Formats: sequence, C-alpha cells, structure tokens
Amino acid sequence: MSRKAVPKDIETYVLIDSKRTCPLCAGIDGDYKVKLGQIAHLDKDSGNSKSDNLAFLCHMHHSMYDSTTSQSKNYTIGEVKYYRNTLTKKLNVNPIRENIKPERLEPSRPNCLEFDGINDVLQIRDSDFNKLNEYSISGTFKLYDERYPGVLISLDSIRTRARFIIIYYSSEHPKYPSEIHLKYYHKKGNETLATMNFDKMQWTFFDLTVSEKKIKFVLGSQSLSVIHPYNDFRLDRIQVGGSIWLGGGIMPLSCFLSRLNIFNIEEDVLVTELLFDYGEEYYNNLPNTKGARILGSHFIKLPKPN
Ligand SMILES: [Zn+2]
Repeated sequence: MSRKAVPKDIETYVLIDSKRTCPLCAGIDGDYKVKLGQIAHLDKDSGNSKSDNLAFLCHMHHSMYDSTTSQSKNYTIGEVKYYRNTLTKKLNVNPIRENIKPERLEPSRPNCLEFDGINDVLQIRDSDFNKLNEYSISGTFKLYDERYPGVLISLDSIRTRARFIIIYYSSEHPKYPSEIHLKYYHKKGNETLATMNFDKMQWTFFDLTVSEKKIKFVLGSQSLSVIHPYNDFRLDRIQVGGSIWLGGGIMPLSCFLSRLNIFNIEEDVLVTELLFDYGEEYYNNLPNTKGARILGSHFIKLPKPN
C-alpha cells in the first residue's frame, strides 16, 4: 500500500493540537514532554486523512501501534482516540481548531479577500483588545506576486507606538529572498524575533500567540517560540495589507486572505471570526465581526487550480 501524505494544513492542525506530545506517553505514563514522532493513521488506512483518524504518536508508540506481531494485547483504536481527545482538551484552549471543518482547509477554496498592497486594508479595532492578556491571531493567506514585499499583518499598540509585524521579503531581496520575519517595531528601533522560510505561492496558515512573556509564531508546519521583554505591549488594532511605513520605502505586499481569527486564550472565547472563503454573503452573516472594517479590499473568486 502506498503511503499518501497528510495534507499540509491538516498536518499543521494535528501538530498544533498535540503540541507534539504523544497521547499514549501522556495518558498512560503522565509524560507530557515534547517527543520526536510521526502522525499515525489510526485505522491504518493512509488514504484516510480525516483529522479524527490522525494522531501524533512518539516513534515508540507509533511502531507499537502499527505492529501486528505483538505477543501481548496491542493498543486499540478506541484507547488511542480516547487519550488523544483527552490530551487535546487539556492542551488546547482554542476550540476553533477542533471545530475546523475540512472544507475550510481545502487549498483550492476559491473565495477570498484580495489586497492590492497599497490601498486595500483590513482593520480591526476594538476597545476591549487592550484587556487581552493571552491571545492568538491566526489566518490563511496566499501571495499573488512573489516580487512584492510587505507587511502581511500588523498588531498595533497605539498608546506605546509599538507594533508586531509579520513581513514578507521579496524573492529579489539581496539578503532575505522570500523569507518571512516576525519583527517588533518600537520608538527606539526594531528587532527581528523570528525568521522563516516560506513556500510562497501556496495557501499558508499563520498563527501568532501572544502572552505576557512569550510569542509563538506558527507558519505552515513551522513553529517558533520567542521570549519577549515587551510587557507593556497592549493590543489596540490589527491591520492586514495596506502599505505600512517602516522607513524603507513603499512595500506593496499583494496577497489573498481567506480567514482571520482572534481568540482570547485566557478566557477561552472567540473574539473575532472573519471567514472570507465562503464569499461575501456568508461573511456578512457572521456573528463575530465586531470592529472589523474592510477598506478598499473586495471579495473575489479565484479560478480553480488545474
Ligand atoms: Zn509515546
């Protein structure tokens, strides 16, 4: 039987949900350490990549689970699912991820919001943002021209005039061709907190989890945590697209955005849910779009990939 790869977006969610902790190590031995491991197909059919059929298992438990020659009673599918679900609940404060419907993860989804890199901006401003202590901002985007660099998303603290940005450097950049950096801009200068390589013409998931001392940046299947000393950063506004002046000329990032979520981790509440991939009519009926303004950008339907 040939092994089919788990689709990238689903793989990302499995890795994020498990935080690379093995459910059998955790559930049976109380060992919650991060493990080297693999994603197992629980029904042993590698063509069934529905998220309920997948679990991240450490190498030892994966080979025990897959083995058929074992003399002793092997782990059953029911046991593994039970320990996986218990672990996911314990580790994951973000129920959006559990509720993600597979069709939302389809890379061929045709509807999205288009940004021209100059005029189009999505702005979300909410007076309650600055009460957030631990939150996650996630979305799915795709470039439409790798030559245009710019800021994908900016988290702004208006009072302290500081911002976290996710910035894409053009394929023609002399130092960082096609890299994505997480940076912190403040009154005294700026710092690069994380750099990642980037499969640039694919739909890519990103997630920025911000807490008092730590920022976790997920891009596709990559993940990096950084300690940050910016305790006074309070979120006031989120911007996607537009040309943000960073002192280095115009950077007209052009991209598509299919969704953007803001999640209050501390209180386990979805603050804002912006889903563009079902089109404008569906978006207009979503309940959690408070504070969001779409300036200039418009809904488009991308041609289906061949
Ligand atoms: Zn294990």
